[in-house]
Amino acid sequence: MSEMPYSYDAPVSQALFDRASAVTPGGVNSPVRAFRAVGGTPRFMVSGSGPYLTDADGREYVDLVCSWGPMILGHSHPEVIAAVQEAVARGTSFGTPGEGEVALAEEIVARVEPVQQVRLVSSGTEATMSAIRLARGFTRRTKVIKFAGCYHGHVDSLLAAAGSGVATFALPDTPGVTGAQAGDTIVLPYNDLEAVHEAFHRHPGEIACVITEASPGNMGVVPPLPGFNQGLKDACAANGALYISDEVMTGFRTSRAGWYGVDGVRPDLMTFGKVMGGGFPAAAFGGRADVMEHLAPAGPVYQAGTLSGNPVATAAGLAQLRLLDDAAYATVNAVSEQVQALVSQALSKEGVAHTLQSASNMFSVFFTDRAVRDYTDARAQDSFRYTAFFHSLLANGVYLPPSSFESWFVSTAHDERALQRIADALPAAARAAAEATA
Ligand code: PLP
Repeated sequence: MSEMPYSYDAPVSQALFDRASAVTPGGVNSPVRAFRAVGGTPRFMVSGSGPYLTDADGREYVDLVCSWGPMILGHSHPEVIAAVQEAVARGTSFGTPGEGEVALAEEIVARVEPVQQVRLVSSGTEATMSAIRLARGFTRRTKVIKFAGCYHGHVDSLLAAAGSGVATFALPDTPGVTGAQAGDTIVLPYNDLEAVHEAFHRHPGEIACVITEASPGNMGVVPPLPGFNQGLKDACAANGALYISDEVMTGFRTSRAGWYGVDGVRPDLMTFGKVMGGGFPAAAFGGRADVMEHLAPAGPVYQAGTLSGNPVATAAGLAQLRLLDDAAYATVNAVSEQVQALVSQALSKEGVAHTLQSASNMFSVFFTDRAVRDYTDARAQDSFRYTAFFHSLLANGVYLPPSSFESWFVSTAHDERALQRIADALPAAARAAAEATA
């Protein structure tokens, strides 16, 4: 893959990237943004409005990333912006409790029935890290089961066979994570209940929890097979372990109550982020009250945060959640179906082998003709075709995730005009994918 062919059509972004690379490792603050999986110049965005992003060179894109999930109402939704402006005018951080965080916690508890109590934090990573600590503190056990290809943020013990950026860079694990931290993590193939039963059998009384993406989106979209999540829940219950459903990506996106609203499998603990922050750093973990009461100051398991429950972030999140009614989810689901149909038609017309997989309105395309059920399947796709597809769409004003191991995201703001722009750009992209060589 050459970096050069794609490097010269975004001169202002390129100049910013050069400046950034001098002062920031790799020029970015989160690895996938650097475009290394697809090559070329990362686009530096200056504004977002509805389904569109505008870059520093003045080009507009239909956004199919939506900030990796949060912008489910599109960019700069007037009611979210108004809530933020109203909150910011009252001050940006108090370091005390405030009503906004109570209201956001109440909204989460009202929407997601298994969440009896919830603690607000600032990132999905913090949510999963804290949930794991709590599970270990509650059960007084050390081992954690996770699945290959599931990403739960950059928590040390969970950076083993993770998806997302780790999948993009094919890092089996990362320097800086010690053997002790990784040694308590048991990594199993996704969608393989037999492997889970075997692990419980091999480690009696040692496993604190199973953590899984409620429906994975970090190796591309790979939904749980029927009965998989229920099987995890039952195995945990039978062995005295906690079942942690990571809904950072799916929460409040795949339905009012996230993936729980789709499959109804009741976790002991859940984690949230993305949509609930309305584009601000807000995340949460919650679940059974008897477990959550082990958290400080109610209980002995320590967890804290200077900016946790920040008044501006909670105002944005609450405004967004209150706008997410059944009609909004119906709109996002319909948009998702339309984009999937357009993509599939264009690729089929060019004879490109592909599989579209979806979980409610999350979806991704795999360049393979086989169903993808786990991380091994996901890595077997022809990713070089994605590179060609991605750059053709980018050149024609459609912004996809810069990696084939990510979910695509749409919003209520993706209207007919935006869909038409995608439809117009797809034939050339499908041709580019067809003609791509490894
Ligand atoms: N869990 C899941 C399922 C995620 O998709 C992510 C981020 O993409 C995280 C956790 C980490 O969240 P954050 O990036 O806010 O730390």
